[in-house]
Amino acid sequence: MKLISLPYNLFFFLTMFVYVFSCQYSQNKNEILLNKKQNILKKMKKTESEWRKSLTDQEYKILREKGTERAFTGQYDGHFEKGVYNCAGCGNQLFESETKYRSGCGWPAFYDAIPGAVEEHKDNSFGMKRIEITCSKCDGHLGHVFNDGPKPTGLRYCINSVSMDFESNNKE
Ligand SMILES: [Zn+2]
Repeated sequence: MKLISLPYNLFFFLTMFVYVFSCQYSQNKNEILLNKKQNILKKMKKTESEWRKSLTDQEYKILREKGTERAFTGQYDGHFEKGVYNCAGCGNQLFESETKYRSGCGWPAFYDAIPGAVEEHKDNSFGMKRIEITCSKCDGHLGHVFNDGPKPTGLRYCINSVSMDFESNNKE
């Protein structure tokens, strides 16, 4: 009898070991899923009617309907104060004034975005192959990014003034 019970005990412990191990594994898996879920939850989601209430007509047209302000008309085109440019839709910090430069293209231009602040999307509208830039938090349309910018990145983030709210470093 003893010869039979020993392997049985071994089998029992092995089963327990596998069970405990797999519980830990699935717990880790759940944590990863939870983190992913929290990242998704960080997005600001509003219905179209809520956006209409919280944005001006011009902001709505550009941020939510992917419009473009007329060249050389935006309030930040020739604006070079020190500070941060935030999303006009949700307040997410998008660009730092240090990365803004005079591109002459008619819209505010930056050679870099704050890490994680914007998302890129292929945009083939109007028969052009462009990369659209949206706010990573509220998905609002900001502008486009091109490969003809200055060093160090060689990028030109061409952004509508209407999509941004400037926050000065010199708070008085
Ligand atoms: Zn935003």
